[in-house]
Amino acid sequence: MSDTRKKTMMPFAFFEDKIIESEKAKISIAAHSVQYGTTCFSGMRGYLRGNEIRVFRVYDHYERLINAAKILGWDYQMEFEKFKKAIEALVKANKPKTDCYFRPFIYSEDEELTPKFKGISYDMAIYMIPLGDYLDTTRGLRLMVSSWRKFPDSSIPTKAKAGGSYLNSSLARTEAIRYGYDEALVMDDNWNIVEGSAENFIAVYRGEVIIPQIGSSMLEGITMRTVIDILKDQKIPFRFEKIDRSMLYTCDEILLTGTGAQILFAESVDDRLIGNKSMGKICKILKEEFAKIIEMQSPKSKEWITKVSI
Ligand code: PMP
Repeated sequence: MSDTRKKTMMPFAFFEDKIIESEKAKISIAAHSVQYGTTCFSGMRGYLRGNEIRVFRVYDHYERLINAAKILGWDYQMEFEKFKKAIEALVKANKPKTDCYFRPFIYSEDEELTPKFKGISYDMAIYMIPLGDYLDTTRGLRLMVSSWRKFPDSSIPTKAKAGGSYLNSSLARTEAIRYGYDEALVMDDNWNIVEGSAENFIAVYRGEVIIPQIGSSMLEGITMRTVIDILKDQKIPFRFEKIDRSMLYTCDEILLTGTGAQILFAESVDDRLIGNKSMGKICKILKEEFAKIIEMQSPKSKEWITKVSI
């Protein structure tokens, strides 16, 4: 086999309850997860500051992951203390030299032919990669509305961050890049904007912050939840509402939020300029307040940051 495969994993991973060399963490080609995309996952950022990694909202990521297994009806449990210890052990084993990203996921290695969840076993693995900026943060994003719709919650549970469902994100993101854009926005079947391919979407429309309803087939992002708390703290009013395509084109600001993307703004959507192409007022406030959390300068820092010394 040619070795042009992209390899980004740090040397050690958590696999079958132990920290082992990532190269040795292998599963069968016949595994349920390989054949049917039977995984649910999470993605957490670790910020390198001095000799420590500051992991952002560990409990919330853990909770969303365990809830994903619950939503999907999988027979899987892990205690939070065990999860946290695995994260700490990984940091100590990998000794990151940059900001990093943790990818915990629940999977099934059972070689079961039929695509059913009952009667198969599940486990959790976690690996790490180095991760700086995931999308270009030096300018606003050029977005396009995707021709691919977000799947409705009636087809695949949208709050579960399930591996197989990311085919939808892959199609949307690939299409956007193919046409020369940075990222895609996906609409629901009623033509309301739901989110980006891997980010939540927030609009500032006629001076007001509008967030699509949580029940609008979006993934409930932990960055978006953080932004909502910042808006409350800053006494910036916001409401949950549908956003259609023509509202989109006349927004004052469009923001994308996500663990990878963090908080980014759009300079255009479908080649219509948004605002004056530069970072808007709301985006600036959110980014500043978000940075304070990571730099331990916010009352929220203690609650949301888990420090792990390397
Ligand atoms: N929506 C989708 C489809 C995503 O993949 C992500 C990234 N996890 C988000 C939203 C943002 O979620 P979070 O802020 O928890 O990373």
